[in-house]
Amino acid sequence: MKSLSVIHSAVQPSATLAVNSKFKQMKADGIPVVGFGAGEPDFDTPDNIKEAAIQAIREGQTKYTPTPGTVQLRKAIAFRMKEDLGIEFDYDAIVVSNGAKACLYATMFTLLNPGDEVILPAPFWVSYSEMISMNRGVPVIVQTTEAQDFKITPQQLEDAVTERTKAFVLNNPSNPTGMVYTKEELQALADVCVKHDLYIIADEIYYRLCYDGKKFVSVASLGEEIREHCIVINGASKSYSMTGWRCGFAACGDKRVAKVMTNCLSHAMGNIGAMNQAAMAEAMLGPQDSVDEMRRVFEERRDYLVKRMNAIEGVSCLKPNGAFYVMMNIEKLIGRTLAGRIIRDADDFAMAFLEGGLVAVVSCCAFGAPNYVRWTYATSLETIKEGLDRLEKFLKEN
Ligand code: PMP
Ligand code: GLU
Repeated sequence: MKSLSVIHSAVQPSATLAVNSKFKQMKADGIPVVGFGAGEPDFDTPDNIKEAAIQAIREGQTKYTPTPGTVQLRKAIAFRMKEDLGIEFDYDAIVVSNGAKACLYATMFTLLNPGDEVILPAPFWVSYSEMISMNRGVPVIVQTTEAQDFKITPQQLEDAVTERTKAFVLNNPSNPTGMVYTKEELQALADVCVKHDLYIIADEIYYRLCYDGKKFVSVASLGEEIREHCIVINGASKSYSMTGWRCGFAACGDKRVAKVMTNCLSHAMGNIGAMNQAAMAEAMLGPQDSVDEMRRVFEERRDYLVKRMNAIEGVSCLKPNGAFYVMMNIEKLIGRTLAGRIIRDADDFAMAFLEGGLVAVVSCCAFGAPNYVRWTYATSLETIKEGLDRLEKFLKEN
């Protein structure tokens, strides 16, 4: 048989989803494992949103819609962005697709020519680098450290720019670090991008999840020239607990981006489900109190997780201000043998902890941070307590 695409054959399965599958398999096999794998809110989708979908089906909204989403939905998204972030986007600058993931993928195929470089600060969410490669781009990884709160500096960004640089990925709040950039930090990074005419792929999917009373600032709100360089990626998955509905969007400062993206999607995917669009419109326009309530619960869980983790000998973590992840530093465990396995990096630790401690966490090797594992606190406080009890026991007994 003929060979498959070389580029696509090199793609690794998503490390986050792989952990989840393994965790679910172990559970199905009757093994009492606890999971901190894929970051997915454990709350149910709010009732008003579910009802909007049911009503849409009853009303016959079961047909094709325009590829980038109904005008009503795109206007609802524009309203929410204005309301929450103070940014104006015309509805025809917005493209709705199958979750933020598909919007990011579409952004890459819209922007990139073979060999174009995309600057990606590490630690990064695992799918960015693969999406860039799948679209014949080159991920240029810039390492950040715990000492700098895992935030890329303007100088690091400037140093990474070459003639081939096309775009910069700015995930704020960040998965996996949970760090949130301040307005001043964003301004300095955006200035570098504008100076070199780089697109800013601003993934703000966690924007509603900021803690300690911090107000989220979108990089696209910092001025018209910056907005024109931005493709803001967002969606309903995390804010409204709608991961399974697959509702994401790209708001494009440069309308050419929206047009090319829509043309390509019209061949590759078409629109997302009409009833899901009705649900997403309700999420954008309806009451927002459930979002605030979920945020409050996440903050409580974060406080508990961080405090207890930092009291455990051998591991530590920074206190994140956003999203729902904690990066646990395992540097002190490197070289130790745990559950019969020599720990050389986070892959080894995650495997040993899963097999010997029955806790699933995500190794950050594929996130560009081999001395860290990621815990998500998008799970109940009871599960978090149990996971930390097991961590304590695992490190004591090994
Ligand atoms: N961006 C980041 C940073 C994420 O963590 C995720 C996780 N799902 C996504 C995008 C994709 O979100 P969606 O479920 O809407 O595709
Ligand atoms: N984004 C979430 C995570 O990082 C969900 C899984 C995924 O889409 O990768 O865990």
